[in-house]
Amino acid sequence: MIGGAVVELGAASRPERPAANHPTPSSAPARYVLSSMNRVIDDRRYLIPFRSSLLPQIFTEVLVIGAGVAGLRAAVEAAALGSEVIVLSKDTLRNTNTAWAQGGIAAILREDDSIESHVQDTLAAGAGLCDEPAVRLVVEQGPERLRELIDWGMALDRDAAGELAVGREGGHNAFRVFHAGGDATGRELERCLYERMLKTGRVRLFDHCFSLDLITQGTEPGAPVLGAITYHERFGLQMIWARTTILASGGAGQLYRETTNPKPATADGLAMAYRAGATLADMAFVQFHPTTLYLPGAGRSLISEAVRGEGAHLLDQAGNRFMLDEHDMAELAPRDIVARAIVRQIARQGGRHVWLDCRHLAHFEHRFPGISAELKRFELDPAKDLIPVHPAAHYMIGGVRCDLQCRTDVPGLLVAGEVSASGLNGANRLASNSLLEGLVFGQVAGELAAKAAASNGSRSGPVPVVSDIRPSDHGELDLADVRSSLRSAMWRNVGIERTGPKLHDANDMFDFWSRYTLDKIFDEPTGWETQNMLLVGSLVAQSGAWREESRGAHARADFPNPVDRFRVHDLWRRGRSQPLLLDVPAEVSV
Ligand SMILES: Cc1cc2nc3c(=O)[nH]c(=O)nc-3n(C[C@H](O)[C@H](O)[C@H](O)COP(=O)(O)OP(=O)(O)OC[C@H]3O[C@@H](n4cnc5c(N)ncnc54)[C@H](O)[C@@H]3O)c2cc1C
Repeated sequence: MIGGAVVELGAASRPERPAANHPTPSSAPARYVLSSMNRVIDDRRYLIPFRSSLLPQIFTEVLVIGAGVAGLRAAVEAAALGSEVIVLSKDTLRNTNTAWAQGGIAAILREDDSIESHVQDTLAAGAGLCDEPAVRLVVEQGPERLRELIDWGMALDRDAAGELAVGREGGHNAFRVFHAGGDATGRELERCLYERMLKTGRVRLFDHCFSLDLITQGTEPGAPVLGAITYHERFGLQMIWARTTILASGGAGQLYRETTNPKPATADGLAMAYRAGATLADMAFVQFHPTTLYLPGAGRSLISEAVRGEGAHLLDQAGNRFMLDEHDMAELAPRDIVARAIVRQIARQGGRHVWLDCRHLAHFEHRFPGISAELKRFELDPAKDLIPVHPAAHYMIGGVRCDLQCRTDVPGLLVAGEVSASGLNGANRLASNSLLEGLVFGQVAGELAAKAAASNGSRSGPVPVVSDIRPSDHGELDLADVRSSLRSAMWRNVGIERTGPKLHDANDMFDFWSRYTLDKIFDEPTGWETQNMLLVGSLVAQSGAWREESRGAHARADFPNPVDRFRVHDLWRRGRSQPLLLDVPAEVSV
């Protein structure tokens, strides 16, 4: 069990409702008091008014929200074990974080590497906040999950001798990152899992189907999840009732003006889970990728860490390798260290970017065909030109808290993948561990959901669910302006280097914008996404303001060091203005 003790800040040790992974209250520091935070984000249980009985009804045993690595792997498992499954994706399968993944999947298949070494690298990157049992589970199951993909036809790259090719990425002390299509690992993984899912014959995929909210009977936290209310461009609103719902809705990169994530990564799953009463953990932790292409007018395309793994150097304006002075792993230091070093270097030298030097790398185009093609679009030749790079928001480390079986503290709701906080990533995710996390916990969630379906044949719902929301008193809203202001404020105030005043400013802004944005009733996804982003942005800023220390991906200029009493998970639940604290369960050797 992911264990530890939970405590409410600012209160005596008051018993909490039991949860699989938050067992008992204990004593812990009680210092932080939120500002005059108006919890507007807690007012709404559902995004829209509806009467369930008036909507079309769909039934399934397992509902999977998300068709990235975690959702597809969960669907494959549940269907293979006999369950009928519906998978939702709000966009196409090509537009997931999974499909955009470049570098690869970390796992131990080589005899000159070891599980223990991968565990230790993961713990070191996690900076004291990893749950070691979760780390061990993922790393130990990694080889099996990867071999299974090879059996299912995933075309991992091979070297001239026909052996699986391996790369190395930041924070790894060994070459253990397996890739496909050079830098197209995610696309090949998505293809492989999708085809495997089709073969089961028990999965219906609804794409362009937007999940608005998880359905519970009653609005009190702790009420079981019974499925979701969804919106499809053609079919409109629908109720999907399920015995088990697996939330695998991915990340939140779109919260930030600068991000590597595709457009759908708008934090919907985190917001849905929060509204349904689930606990969110460690929301301050957002990983910023050090190297995205920085050209006005270009998207922030990722220049994979694997490029630095192959030996590329980061140079300042004068052409010096500044990372040599920053860390003994230089360009291959953990991502937070490299990202912050780049920001500091830019502050010292001026301008908007540093350079990535790949000119000495042989076979760049062969090894990184996707990146080469993107550079070509801007007339950059990595054999001759330096590449302008800058950090961008990349991975949401915080998420819906779950135990080793993917259970949340809401019955009927499992989580897997980037939306979850399983304890694997601690305060900072190790490169190439997240596809692995999705594979491992996707399988675990799918198996548990199938078992639940088999143990009790009765289907969920329909129960009468009514959401009444009175119309907003405020006038028209320029939604695009709210969204872009939010993304800019997140980048400026809740970005790579934070301070208390900036975080509190962000909180005040989000609170104010929430008053006239979260009370609106929208009738299409852009409005719902913006409401979700505002809710989750608020939680990231609140968690960041609470965490008066620097640890892993969370860097506070006003508290530059880790502080032992913050070596806890901070837990956020609807209806509470203060976080609860959960001890990190096992000793880690960092
Ligand atoms: C550019 C890039 C490169 C990366 N490279 C690597 C790498 O090399 N190795 C590695 O390990 N990790 C990498 N990562 C991280 C990794 O890709 C992700 O963490 C991982 O793929 C997340 O998988 P997931 O299944 O949790 O979510 P995703 O793959 O993002 O899938 C989320 C799914 O949820 C759906 N969804 C979301 N909201 C809703 C809603 N409201 N209604 C219905 N459906 C919804 C989406 O449509 C999508 O189908 C990279 C990420 C990016 C962006």
